[in-house]
Amino acid sequence: MKKYWTPVVMLVIFEIVAVILWLTKENIFYLFNFSYIGLSISFGVFLFIRKYKHARRIVQLLVGLYMLIYLGLICNENMQIEGFWYYLFTGVFEAATIHYAVAKIFGPLLFGRGWCGYACWTAMVLDFLPYKGPDSPRKKIGWIRYITFAASLIFVTALFLAKVGNIERIMFWAFIVGNVIYFAAGIILAYAFKDNRAFCKYICPITVFLKPMSYFSLLRIKCDMDKCVSCGKCKKVCPMNVDVTDNSRKRQNGTECILCMECVKNCPKDAL
Ligand code: SF4
Ligand code: SF4
Ligand code: SF4
Repeated sequence: MKKYWTPVVMLVIFEIVAVILWLTKENIFYLFNFSYIGLSISFGVFLFIRKYKHARRIVQLLVGLYMLIYLGLICNENMQIEGFWYYLFTGVFEAATIHYAVAKIFGPLLFGRGWCGYACWTAMVLDFLPYKGPDSPRKKIGWIRYITFAASLIFVTALFLAKVGNIERIMFWAFIVGNVIYFAAGIILAYAFKDNRAFCKYICPITVFLKPMSYFSLLRIKCDMDKCVSCGKCKKVCPMNVDVTDNSRKRQNGTECILCMECVKNCPKDAL
C-alpha cells in the first residue's frame, strides 16, 4: 500500500490549494477546478504505479481537454500567455493569472515541468504524432522562444496603449487563433525535425518561465550510479534529450525534463 501514498499526497496538495483559493477568493469555481485537476493527476499517477502504459496520456486528455474546451472555449478564459499578460495588466488575480502562478511560475519549483508532461493541451495533441524519441541532436534555435515571448507581450501592451475597446473579446479570439497557430506550427515542426516536441524545444514562449524555475525543482529524476550500466537507453527514449544519468542540476538539458517517466519505464536496471 506504501506505493500509493504519492497519488494521495498529490491529491491532498491540490485540495489544499483548492480550498485556500475557494475561501480567499470566495468563488467555488476554484474548489471545483483544482479538485478536478488534482483528481485527474492523482488518478494518472495511480495508473502509472499500476504499470498502465497509457497513464500519462489519460491525464493529458483529462486535464488538457478540460482547459482547452471548458475553460478556454466555454468559459472564455484565455489561458495562453497573452491572456496571462492581459489579466496581469488589468490587475485581476483570476483564473489565468492563478493558473500561471500555480502551473508555470511557482509550481515548477516543486514539480518542475510536470505541466508540460501531463497537462498542456498543445503537447496533448503533439504527443499523438509518430516521433516520440528524437533521432537527431537538438538544433541551436531555442532563441526563437524569446521572440514569441516578446511578441505576446508587445501584442497585449499595444492593445492597452492604443486603448482598444472590448479587449476581453479580442482575448477570446486571440485564444482561438493562438491555438490554431500553435497546433499548426507544432505539427509542421514535428514532421520537419522528426521530433514531436520540437515546438516545446524551440518555439513555446512559456518555457521562458518554465526553464529557470524548473532548474530548482524539488521533484526530479535521479540516477542510482551503483545500478546504472551506462547502456544509454534512457537518453535514447527521452523526448527532451535530457542526460538523466548526470545527477547534478547542470545536467545536459536538465530544465527540459517534463517528468514523462519514459526513461524510468525503459531503464533495464531500475536505476532511475
Ligand atoms: S513547452 Fe509549451 S507547448 Fe510544450 S508542453 Fe510545455 S507549455 Fe506546452
Ligand atoms: S537506462 Fe538505466 S542503466 Fe541504462 S544508462 Fe540509463 S540509467 Fe543507466
Ligand atoms: S524521459 Fe526522463 S529525463 Fe526525459 S523528459 Fe522524460 S522523465 Fe525527463
